[in-house]
Order: sequence, then structure tokens, then C-alpha cells
Amino acid sequence: MLSNWDDTIVALATPPGVGAIGIVRLSGPAAFEIINELFPSKDLSKQASHTIHVGFLKEDKSEDIDEVVISLYKNPRSYTGEDVVEISCHGSPYVQQQVIQACLRKGARLAKAGEFTQRAFLNGKLDLTQAEAVADLIASNTAASQRTALHNIRGGFSEILKQLRENLIQFSALIELELDFSQEDVEFADRKKFYELINDATVTTQQLLLSFQLGNVIKNGVSVAIIGKPNAGKSTLLNTLLNENRAIVSEIAGTTRDTIEELINIDGILFRLIDTAGIREHSVDTIELIGMEKSMEKMKSADVVLYIFDVHTMPAEELQIAVANFKKQGLKYLLAGNKTDQAGEAAAKIKFAAGPGIYFISAKNNIGVDKLKDALFSTTVNTQPQTENTIITNARHYEALQKVQESLVDIKKGLDEKISGDLLALDIRHCLHYISEITGDVSNEDVLDYIFSKFCIGK
Ligand code: GDP
Repeated sequence: MLSNWDDTIVALATPPGVGAIGIVRLSGPAAFEIINELFPSKDLSKQASHTIHVGFLKEDKSEDIDEVVISLYKNPRSYTGEDVVEISCHGSPYVQQQVIQACLRKGARLAKAGEFTQRAFLNGKLDLTQAEAVADLIASNTAASQRTALHNIRGGFSEILKQLRENLIQFSALIELELDFSQEDVEFADRKKFYELINDATVTTQQLLLSFQLGNVIKNGVSVAIIGKPNAGKSTLLNTLLNENRAIVSEIAGTTRDTIEELINIDGILFRLIDTAGIREHSVDTIELIGMEKSMEKMKSADVVLYIFDVHTMPAEELQIAVANFKKQGLKYLLAGNKTDQAGEAAAKIKFAAGPGIYFISAKNNIGVDKLKDALFSTTVNTQPQTENTIITNARHYEALQKVQESLVDIKKGLDEKISGDLLALDIRHCLHYISEITGDVSNEDVLDYIFSKFCIGK
């Protein structure tokens, strides 16, 4: 994928389908030449960068294709760092295809998924964490995921890594210098300072690693299994929650989900309410426990179980059995005692007084549901402060950071044991290597191909 650098690539940058306008993007050494051949009214190669031009697109002697707006970006001041031309045409799929076909005939080739961003990365416009954040921003569907992605596009995460890296490099340079003077037993590198540095680095790395839990929630949402016996009020609660909180979502490329889910947005976090239709069947009497076990099998993958029951009909002992079951499975759970709007609710509540914490609600009348929602948020979303608001959302970063952390432990151990400078330098180099893996300063083609293939075409 990294080959064919000399190619000029073309793709539709806007979603396929009908729209007010469609944008076709060209990037590469021949971008200006190609557009010039298709734009008879003006010599675009002589125009300044960052200018726009209106006119008709026309291929050789054939009829006009469309009236378009051309934006010019000369290298290196463009998204990819190459010459880039954006053609805004009318948003008909047919017109868009005509424009792309004309570019192809003039020598461009179709861009692969993520190829524009990959070129930006290879030209040093972005590091790998920033490029990955671009994909995250495109996929973002809540305030939190948008904010995190934007923060990282602006280099929030890169900046922390850069700082870590610079500190380590500075120190390892001093250690290597010592090695050159090894006969004389001098210490250029102040060990006490280095200790502090490693401690700081460890704290930073630890915070980043901790932020991944939140990051994961921000990126993937929280899955919630609403379970309970028939008529407990599951559908009613689902509807009440959806009425106020239905999330605006875009389908994320490459994710297929095998369960039916309803999505709600609570304080900027996406909650996936798993439809437990299949689990509703076994429930009553003696089969209850077996049914429960089965439900649990399916529920294990959920981040939290929301168990709803009718306070009037639910025996207190049965609730305790259910709770014991959740605990045994190691599940996070919330209990919602429903139908508290009905007469006799006070007596019903007392029945559960000795038991575990219950949120008493009326799903139908939207009473107590807000508190339940807050509880849903606070039990699943870890909101402790993060390193300068940088939150790790990417499993690849998480794994590499774990290795950074391990190598920091090695360095510290080396310092404690006063190991020789050359061994210490080696440990530092390991640590640097893992940091560089995250930013893409060292990378292999497979990793890059994998990362960029997850982008959409045109990005
Ligand atoms: P599901 O089988 O668990 O999905 O239960 P439903 O949501 O279908 O509710 C069963 C019945 O209980 C329906 O007739 C609902 O209208 C009723 N119901 C649900 N929530 C409440 C509530 O808070 N108060 C009262 N009085 N009835 C409720």
C-alpha cells in the first residue's frame, strides 16, 4: 500500500448518494495537471494556493460535465501534504461518477480506504495518533467521543508522548556520554533527577492507562441489558428512556452487531440498551432459575444489567436470589422496583427494605427514572480526572502503553540495582521504542495498512 507514491489519487470525499453538493478530491503530483485538462476556462496551474474557482468541467471535446467550484491546495499546505484539488460538484451520484471517471481517464487512480490520511501521515502532517483520531472523529456520535477525538487530532496525546520521549532521550544521551568516559567513573546523568523523571513518566503512563476504561466507554458506549420477568415493565422503561434520550448515531463502518439495540445518550455517553426479547421467554416459577442462568449467559457480555421487577408481585426472596446470581457472575447490576405509582406501593417497598439498594420507579409515569439514569451513568462511567484531558480510546495505544509501563519498571529496577550504564541505556531504548510505536515513528507496513484500511474511501 505504501508503494505507488507517484500516483495521483481520486475519490469522493462526501457520502455516496444524493446531496446538495458532492466533493471529489484529488491528491498527488499530477492533481493540478489533471484538473487543468478538465477546466478549459482558466489555467489553474498558474493560480495561487488556497483559492477557489468557479467554472465548467469539461472533458476534451465532449459536453460539459457540471458547473463546479474548484479549491486548490499546493503542497505542502494541504491535508495530505501533496498537491490537492477539491472539486465541489452537484450532488447527483451520476454527476459525481462522471467527475471521478474524467479524472481517472486523465491519469488519476481510485484512492484506497484511508489513503489520503495515510499520505498525510507519511508526509509528516499528522502522527499516527492524530491520524487515528481522524477516524475516531468521523465515527463519533456523542459529545464525549467528538471532544476526545478532536483533542487528539490537535495533538493532545501526541504532545504527552513527545514530552516523555524527549525527556528519555535527553537522559539516555547523558548516559551514553558516561559510557564514552567509562574509565574515569564520572556521572553526567544525575541519578536523582532521573528517578524523578521516571516516576513522573510512570504516573503519566498510569493515568493514561486508567483513562482507557473511560475511553472505551466514550468510543464504544456502554451496553446495558434490561432484564426482568414478563410484565415487569421492560418495554415501558425502554420507551420512557428512548423518548427523551434517543441518540443520533451514524453507522460505524466495519461494525456489525448481532443483537438488536436501542441507543440512548446520557450526558454525552452512548448507552446501548440490548433488546432482551429472546430472553423474556423462560421466566415463571421453577424454570425461573434455569431461565435466569440462561439469561446470564447472554448477559455476561453486557457492561451492566438493569434488572426491573414489579414491586407488587415480586417476592423479596426471589430478588435476593437474582442478586446473588448477578454477584456470582461478577456482573455490575442495578435494581429497579417498578410500578410504584400503584396503590399499596408503600407496603411493597417495605418488603424490600432489608434487601439491596433499589431504585423505585414508575416506568409508565416517568417517576424516578432520572435517578436510575444517573445511577446507570455513575456505575459505568469512570469520571476521575485524566491526564490533561487526554483519554485513550484505542486498544492499540493501550497495549503499547502497557509495554511502556513495563519498560519504565525495568528502568527503575535498573536504577535501584545500580546496573551499568550500557544496560540502563538499553532499557531506555526499549521504552522509547514503544512510545515511537504509538506515534508511528517506528511502524511496520502491516500495522499501517491495518489502521488505514479501517477508514472510509475518500478520507
Ligand atoms: P415487559 O413484559 O417487561 O416488557 O413489560 P411491559 O413494559 O410490556 O409492561 C407490562 C404492563 O405493565 C403493561 O401493561 C404496562 O403498561 C404496565 N406498566 C409498566 N410500567 C408501569 C408502571 O410504572 N406503572 C403501572 N401502573 N403500570 C406499568
